Amino acid sequence: MVSLTALHALRDDELITPPDVTAAGLREALTEMAKVVGDNNVIVHTAKSMKPDTEGQYYNLPKEHDLFYILEKEHFLASAVVSPGSTVEVSAIVKLANKYLTPLWPVSMGRNLGYGGSAPRLRGSIVLDMGHRMNRVLEVSDRDCTCLLEPGVSYFDLYNYLQSNGHKQLWIDNPDLGGGSVIGNTLDRGAGYTPYGEHFSMHCGMEVVLPNGEVMRTGMGALPGNNTWQTFQYGFGPYPDGIFSQSNFGIVTKMGVWLMPDPGGYQAYLFSFPKEADLPEIIERIRVLRIAGVIMNAPTIRNTLIDAAVYGPKSDYTSNKGVLTSEEVDAIAKKIKVGRWNIYGAMYGPEPMRDLQWAALKASFMEIPGATYEFPKPRAEGEPRSILHMREETLKGLPNTYELGWLDWTCPRGSLLGFSPISPATGVDALKQYEMVTKRFREFGFDYMGTFVVGWRELHHIVCLTFDKSDPKQRKKAHRCIELLIDDAAAEGYGEYRTHLCFMDQIASVYNWNGGASLKFNETLKDALDPKGILAPGKSGVWPARLRGRGFELKRSQEPHKL
Ligand code: ADP
Repeated sequence: MVSLTALHALRDDELITPPDVTAAGLREALTEMAKVVGDNNVIVHTAKSMKPDTEGQYYNLPKEHDLFYILEKEHFLASAVVSPGSTVEVSAIVKLANKYLTPLWPVSMGRNLGYGGSAPRLRGSIVLDMGHRMNRVLEVSDRDCTCLLEPGVSYFDLYNYLQSNGHKQLWIDNPDLGGGSVIGNTLDRGAGYTPYGEHFSMHCGMEVVLPNGEVMRTGMGALPGNNTWQTFQYGFGPYPDGIFSQSNFGIVTKMGVWLMPDPGGYQAYLFSFPKEADLPEIIERIRVLRIAGVIMNAPTIRNTLIDAAVYGPKSDYTSNKGVLTSEEVDAIAKKIKVGRWNIYGAMYGPEPMRDLQWAALKASFMEIPGATYEFPKPRAEGEPRSILHMREETLKGLPNTYELGWLDWTCPRGSLLGFSPISPATGVDALKQYEMVTKRFREFGFDYMGTFVVGWRELHHIVCLTFDKSDPKQRKKAHRCIELLIDDAAAEGYGEYRTHLCFMDQIASVYNWNGGASLKFNETLKDALDPKGILAPGKSGVWPARLRGRGFELKRSQEPHKL
């Protein structure tokens, strides 16, 4: 990493030039961009300057490459990181990118763990670090329970802001890790666990810099002098917000978010189930209660090992370095006093409301033989938190980072790769998913760690593959295992809701109903909005005409499937 002033000291062949851009062109583009944002806000990167693996961690993530790399470390390497300080600066940078053909990869906090972090899909792109300087809570309305944010506001930041500025009655909804950006998570369609957990549904109004540098506001924001930008999502005419999520059609500089008023009462709970085979019955019951609104949030159904991994690495439990057997997992479940499946949920509202919810939950789940339940117990001084204590915080919107624990299951400083297919919320589908993944994981030597989450009606299966990136064989296995799983899933009609950079092209190619009409539609929009192809080329498998079909797409590995 070198500052702009040292750019002239770098040899041309050290620069990570993007396609169609010469070293001289890149130098000129970065010099012009520095005039917009200031020299200190342009950091140039080379293969040599990548942050060493020993230094990268959650609070000190590399901005130029993926900390949890699966392909070679420098495959998804940025040429530079540029940090704008205002919408005006973003617009000016975008215009320069069009002039010099330098691709921009916008991130907010860039903590997209397991999906590529802040690394760009196309090598040589400039990471646009939206969160570094644009990190203000712009407005909070106690009346409407809304806020307006810049990209650099993390869940911790928002929580602390509300607590220290007289808005304690407003709750936030955070995902498992509180250090991510509210805007970044919402744009990648992440989720949390209060009744406001479906983040994209809870956003209201965006300000977006389009790929030609023009600035637009969505919803009521398009009406000058409006007073409902953060309260009515749609405005008039076609509703464009969706096309700015998981996309490369615009850079979001502001977003409105709905906040939940304190519900007047809260109680977290845990139902544990002793048998691996209990999964289908659990899912059948959750679906009914969730769609009926008795369960007001998205509860998680976690397997034993994901809980075990929060407490400590695999070596704390066993000397077996291979895939654990069902009996070994049973023993771990006994040791840490959880089930083979565990529902961590919560009830919201005043006591009479919670009493009614509880009666329905208890009547349903306790019919499953061997089921038990508990509520979080007050902790004695010095007593460590249980997973239930941790989830109790997450489910009421207290941001935390407890879940980082399970990254180190396989090895110290372990890596994570996320695999997240969607299916109907039925017992049959949950079982099919579980068997599909555990079969492949056994084949490739990974322990299954996963969570099932029932959203509004569908089942998110969140599979956490932890691996040792220092071992190229493990990286290869992780890569191949997920490639095969994407195809396994597609054959059953399941598709992923989000993915790592490595798999964007493959997943876009399986969403191919009617000759790939959906990808064609996205490409049509891409070419109309971004004719020079400068904004996040390849994001979600959408390539601009200039770069399409030139070999930048990552195809499934051609190697025969052998280990
Ligand atoms: P987080 O830190 O919350 O995990 P990121 O900042 O890594 O989130 O963002 C996740 C993804 O969302 C990025 O890879 C990028 O594709 C997209 N994204 C993030 N911020 C913006 C933005 N301001 N405008 C457009 N896309 C964005």
